[in-house]
Amino acid sequence: MPVPCRTGCGNNAVLKRPKTGDALCKECFYWAFETEIHYTITKGELFNKGDSVAIAASGGKDSTVLAYILKTLNTRYDYGLNLMLLSIDEGITGYRDDSLETVKQNRDDYEMPLKILSYKDLYGWTMDEIVAQIGRKNNCTFCGVFRRQALDRGAALLDVKCIATGHNADDIAETVLMNVLRGDIARLKRCTAISTGSEGTIPRVKPLKYTYEKEIVMYAHYKKLVYFSTECVFAPNAYRGHARALLKDMERIRPTCIMDIIYSGETMSVKEQVSLPSQRICSRCNFVSSQEVCKACVLLEGLNKGLPKLGIGKTSKAKKMLEAYNARQMQENSLEQATDLEDTSKSIKDNIKDASNKCNSKNCCSGKCKSDASKQQNGNAKINKLLEQYGLDESPSSQKLNGDLSDDECSGGCGNSSSMPIGF
Ligand code: SF4
Ligand code: ZN
Repeated sequence: MPVPCRTGCGNNAVLKRPKTGDALCKECFYWAFETEIHYTITKGELFNKGDSVAIAASGGKDSTVLAYILKTLNTRYDYGLNLMLLSIDEGITGYRDDSLETVKQNRDDYEMPLKILSYKDLYGWTMDEIVAQIGRKNNCTFCGVFRRQALDRGAALLDVKCIATGHNADDIAETVLMNVLRGDIARLKRCTAISTGSEGTIPRVKPLKYTYEKEIVMYAHYKKLVYFSTECVFAPNAYRGHARALLKDMERIRPTCIMDIIYSGETMSVKEQVSLPSQRICSRCNFVSSQEVCKACVLLEGLNKGLPKLGIGKTSKAKKMLEAYNARQMQENSLEQATDLEDTSKSIKDNIKDASNKCNSKNCCSGKCKSDASKQQNGNAKINKLLEQYGLDESPSSQKLNGDLSDDECSGGCGNSSSMPIGF
């Protein structure tokens, strides 16, 4: 027997809203879905009239629905926004190359300009190449850090006021859960913010913050929107996957748990002494960083030096890596010197003379020890300087708080993340 639409519009219901359980007809569902997002935008004061806004577009369901909705609401409520699409090509064969075709389709369907930036152009590496180098364990760390900066670069190029990302309510509830489970209080403090970005950075806004993932899928389905739904080929089976499974289980029993977790995250009080690292400008690339050198530059340096794990994990490991790297460099240098020494007897004499000139100690080996010691000292100084520059503090608490805070790793588009969501 047909069920009438809950709104009393006279139509029969065709669906049950996952968020509220209401039986609705298609038109009333569209209206509820769109009006809620409009309310989120206006209440959160996400945009100002005349703003240029870059929509972080992956071709996935979230960013596709976001682009469609922003276009619809912009016209319906006269927001006066200049909307454009910004995509990042990570260089993942069989995933991003295909999803970018969907973004191009969005560009044509929604008549918005599209800018695509690639990791290869920005960093000299594709994700395929990075995974070939580092394996499939920390790939999402590289990908997330590079993407965050790539979006900043793209937004700067497009000269936009803000970047709108497709984080949905499920992503945010998952992130709250994960931060609680990991004890990552610094991130917990800001992961529910609808708008993020400090002075000097381009803010990120989340118009779908209170929109359920199931409703996004339903909306895209009924509206016949074209989106790409394949998971990234490098998607890990990470901690987030467990948080997601837990959330889905709880949602089945009590659908409001998604909103309840977000509300808990928003209102949870965090001790005053838990503070976020202050933002500054990376001394190498001039993009925002919480350290002297940003995480993207550290990771890139590691890749280029053949030390891909430099920016990952504990400081003690990074220190060991740098020590081993320096020792190798010294060994290579002395090998080069030895080859030179064999070349001519003249240079042997010169080198001995040179070495003996360096040493002043009476009981010493004519300079060799002193030069080695000074090399060693220089090496350590270099390591310490690098560790200091990279913000790799030894204290365990700083390990959690010092990283560049990112809420920009994958969730929506690629469906996975090693730590935090990017939501597009
Ligand atoms: Fe990048 Fe997401 Fe794929 Fe990880 S799962 S490699 S973050 S696109
Ligand atoms: Zn940098």
